[in-house]
Parts: sequence; C-alpha cells; structure tokens
Amino acid sequence: MRTFPIFVSMDRKPPLVVGGGELAAIKARLLLKRAAVVDIAADRIVPELEELVKDSRIALVPARPGVDQVRGRPLVVAATQEDEEDQRVAAIARALGVPVNVPDRPELCSFVMPAIVDRGEVTVAIGTEGASPVLAQRLRAWLERELHPGLDALAKLAGEFRETVAKRLPAGRARRKFWETVLDGKSSEAALAGEEAEARRLIGEAIEEAAAAPAKGRVLLVGAGPGDPDLLTLKALHALKSADVILYDRLVSKDVLNHARREVELIPVGKSKGDHSVPQDEIEKLMVERARLGDTVVRLKGGDPLVFGRAGEEIAALSEAGIDFEIIPGVTASLAAAASLKIPLTHRDVSHSVTFLSGHEAGGAEPSFAHLELGALKAGENTLVVYMGVATAGLIANRLLEASWSGECPVVAVENASRESERRLLTTIADLAGDPERLALNSPAVLIFGEVARLSDARLVEEVLSLPEVRRAYA
Ligand code: SAH
Repeated sequence: MRTFPIFVSMDRKPPLVVGGGELAAIKARLLLKRAAVVDIAADRIVPELEELVKDSRIALVPARPGVDQVRGRPLVVAATQEDEEDQRVAAIARALGVPVNVPDRPELCSFVMPAIVDRGEVTVAIGTEGASPVLAQRLRAWLERELHPGLDALAKLAGEFRETVAKRLPAGRARRKFWETVLDGKSSEAALAGEEAEARRLIGEAIEEAAAAPAKGRVLLVGAGPGDPDLLTLKALHALKSADVILYDRLVSKDVLNHARREVELIPVGKSKGDHSVPQDEIEKLMVERARLGDTVVRLKGGDPLVFGRAGEEIAALSEAGIDFEIIPGVTASLAAAASLKIPLTHRDVSHSVTFLSGHEAGGAEPSFAHLELGALKAGENTLVVYMGVATAGLIANRLLEASWSGECPVVAVENASRESERRLLTTIADLAGDPERLALNSPAVLIFGEVARLSDARLVEEVLSLPEVRRAYA
C-alpha cells in the first residue's frame, strides 16, 4: 500500500472502534491521545474500556454498526477480530469514503496507523508502508530518547504567541524569520528548560525588536562541494536551511539541493561552457535585488566558491551595493579527487607546491598558457592541478612537453569526483599529448599532473583500453 501521511481532525464526530476486546481497547487508547471521546460499537467490552466509559471518554453504541453509524466519522477501526464482521464494516466505510483500518489486514485498510512519538502538541508519526513495523518501533524508541521532553512546552508557548506575532509582523518572510530566530535562540532554550516566565519575556522582547527593525537581507556565497552531500560543511547545510532563495550553478548536484529548505525558491543560473543561461552581471543584479528585499540569498557554487568561481566579481558587486555577505568554503574538486585517488597533493619527497590552473581562459579564447612559466613548475617538485581542462587536456600536455616535462610523468584524471558516476584514470603526459581522446573524458573532470599521481588508486588507462605502450611506461 502506498500511503501519504496526514493529521486527521478529531474535532467533529468521534472516531468509531468496532469491537470490545483487547485489540479494540488498544486502538481506542491510542485514539484517545487526541480524540476527546471515542465511540465503541460492541455488545460486551473488556474492563479497561468500562473504566473509560465511566470517565466519559468512551461512548458505547450498538454492535454491528450500519451505514448511518459509520457516515461522517473521521475514521473507523474494525477490530472485532471476527473476519466476516470486520470485512462488512470495512466495506461500508470504503463505500462511504470513510478511512478504515483493520488491524493486521492491510488488504482491508484504506489507512495505516503510524508509530507515534507523543510530545503533547508535537507529534511524530512514523510509517514504513507496512514493510517493517519493528523498524518503525525502533525509530520510535530512538526518537523518544532524542526529542527533548520540553518540546510540548515550547510548542504551546509558540501557539500562545501566534496571534500577537500575526498582528505585529507581516506574513511571509518577516514572520518566518522571526520564528526561526526564536526557535534557534535563548527563548527556546528557556522554554525547553521549563523557565516559562523567562521564555515569555524573551519572546516578547524579540517581537518588539522584529517589529521595530525589518529583516535585513544578506548574501551567502556557499561552497556546495564536489557533489556528495556528505562533503557539505555544517555551515553550508545551515545556509541551505535558512535560505529564502538559492541561485545555483550547473555543477551543484541534485543531492545537495535536496538538503535545502522545502519552501525555498530555487533559481538555476548555471553556466556550462558556451551556454550562458544567466549572464554574470544578471546574477549579481539578482543577488543584490533579492537581498535588498530582505531575503537571505544563497549563491551556491560547485566545490569552493573562491576557486574558479567568479567570486571576485560577485564580492565586488556586493561590496559596492553595500550588501552584507559571508563566504562559506566548500571542498574544491581537486581535493575531493585526491581523496578518491588516495594521493597527497604535496609530498615531502616529490612535491612541495600545488598549482591550480584553469584549462580555459576568460573570454573563451583558445588558451595559450603563455602567462605560465610551466618549466618552473616541474614535476618532481610541483603538482599541477587543472580545472576546466577536458577540452584542452591534449594542448596542456603538449605545452608541458615543450616546457621539458618528462613524457613519462604520470597524469590522473578524475571525472565526477565524489559522485556515483566517478571515473579515475591514470596515464602519462606523452600518452595524453599524443591522443587526448583516449581518456574519453567528460566534464566535469580535474587532471592532476605530477609524481604524486603515480601513487594513485586510479585505473590505468591501459587497463581500460589495453594499450601496451602505457603499460611499458609503468613497468
Ligand atoms: N569552484 C569549483 C570549480 C569551478 S570550475 C571547485 O572549487 O571545485 C569548474 C571545474 O571544476 C570543472 O570544469 C572541473 O574541472 C571541476 N569540477 C567541479 N566539480 C567536479 C567534480 N565533481 N569532479 C571533477 N571535477 C570537478
């Protein structure tokens, strides 16, 4: 059964439990956590239920309920444990469109009862689509331990202030920001600790403050890392949760975006080479505009925002516009690639420096690398890391040969570092210079040139393509 979780109102007609035995009592007790009264249709009931009848929590109605007794109920549980009767009740409920549950008979149910963690106003319902009730129970036990016992008090307090806040602060962004600040802050700590008076005072203060000064927008330049969301920093995760709007690049993975706040506005501004969907100056304008409206704008970039990310221009635009901004670093692609390859980028024996090189020059011109003294960055002393170099890998390898790098110097390429589709390939400069197509490399990929590449956990290109001459280079 595929199900969708909802919370059903118990404010109108009471729910109906059919049956008066142990099982019916268990279900009635569960429903009484929220329903003021539960109706029980039975001739005889167990003593526990009799107690509840005395307390007016349970009302007895005649056994074998018909259409009129079922109609209009928020839900019905058929728990007579007599097959024919349960089926009859289920059929009536289904015909009337009243949600029905028959314990342990999923084929008769139109809804399932979740495992519930009950903190008063706060309820967590857990479902496994019936796959594993035991798993649901274990999750429940875990949540019981993890969720603060004071959550109920906190939720009640928030409920108490709801109307005042609605009167004082405009709906939407301002109000949501207010509650986020309250729930993350001292007043919430006080409420959870049972210091109700202090919590009330702090919330009152926060309302005055928020009403006096409208929320100020800001921009966060956030590194999304190379793709695996486990490589996000906690700060980046916070940023994703607090953003009103996220402007993201094409290289940002879906798995990372899945961590954003559900109601967030997602704007792709992704540029792939040759496809300038949103020009850089428009991105900058958009950031400034939205921040001025009071939004928390997250500018989400693959890897680290300060590595080949055009952050310089964005920083200048934000400074000029006088917008508050913060930069949250991310794991840059080459560091993720090195981790996958299990190689160091520096090594006391063979590499004392690392150079990050862009494989294409600004303006889309054919790169000449004329500005680089490639000979001075010799393998054996330096590790050369190339970003955006898929199209120009062969050209770069040739320039390195001209600058008298050894043709046998190893090169590793990592495509889609940290993603499921990751590929790691090891070759030589000579091989790459001779036939760059051999690697069949796709973007995004980084290339790492230098002796450290020899230590890598990549597949030899010859293994993939059975090229004996490459094998010889590694003999
Ligand atoms: N700011 C990014 C780099 C942006 S430039 C960072 O710090 O990683 C875009 C280049 O980054 C791509 O052409 C590719 O060289 C590299 N890149 C980004 N994500 C990558 C990934 N998951 N695997 C390999 N290379 C990646």
